[in-house]
Amino acid sequence: MMLLCAIGIYSQTKHTFRIFSGGVMYMQTQINAQAILATLKDTLSLPRLVKVGADAFETLVVTILSQNTADANTERAYRKLSERFKISPEVLAKAEIGEIEDCIRVAGLYQSKSRAIQAASKIILEKFGGNLNSILALPVEEARRTLMEMPGVGPKTADVVLMFSAGKPTIPVDTHVNRVSKRLGLAPAKGDYEAVRCSLQSHFQPKDYALVHMLLISHGRKTCKAQKPQCSACPVSDVCPSKGGSA
Ligand code: SF4
Repeated sequence: MMLLCAIGIYSQTKHTFRIFSGGVMYMQTQINAQAILATLKDTLSLPRLVKVGADAFETLVVTILSQNTADANTERAYRKLSERFKISPEVLAKAEIGEIEDCIRVAGLYQSKSRAIQAASKIILEKFGGNLNSILALPVEEARRTLMEMPGVGPKTADVVLMFSAGKPTIPVDTHVNRVSKRLGLAPAKGDYEAVRCSLQSHFQPKDYALVHMLLISHGRKTCKAQKPQCSACPVSDVCPSKGGSA
């Protein structure tokens, strides 16, 4: 796992590889990472919606709904879908696709999301005995690959399901996690999804992965915003290499 991460990071640039390959800068980043975690834990509340220990299929459906839309729309779509249908592969595999679409319209991309939810439901029924248990029992990288073979399931969706429903050691990288971790120097500035995930994981202990994911989201929403990061009010500005200079 660590080797795969190292290879992924190396494939970025020599500069980013140096940061994550050991030495003084790496050690400093490790120290900063622990300081950032402690400070954010003390100063932030956690985002809602996805709960640790949630049913894996429900988490899969919620996460597909959440793609490219706001939390409020995801919640509305999920509420409407769960009022109309039991959220299970058996029920959603057989549901009228038009009815699923009507329920989740508010989440946007409702036609492709409906098709993805129904196709995943059918695959889970036909190949995995009607639930995700056998996938969740796999080693984390194999489980990720298996989930990502389903329509509509990319790395973030797979990681959310594995982390929140099975406690697997992986850090989902959403838009906030991506932006904030790069600004804080915890991930390579031009890193792709895998480079960011692997470098974040190298800086924290697996027991903290879910917390790190949620705190970076909260920090990104509240302070380290995409357009105007509020560096003067930022509780981790003293260890941030981007302080005052982020776009
Ligand atoms: S100092 Fe600014 S750029 Fe750095 S984490 Fe805080 S808000 Fe983001």
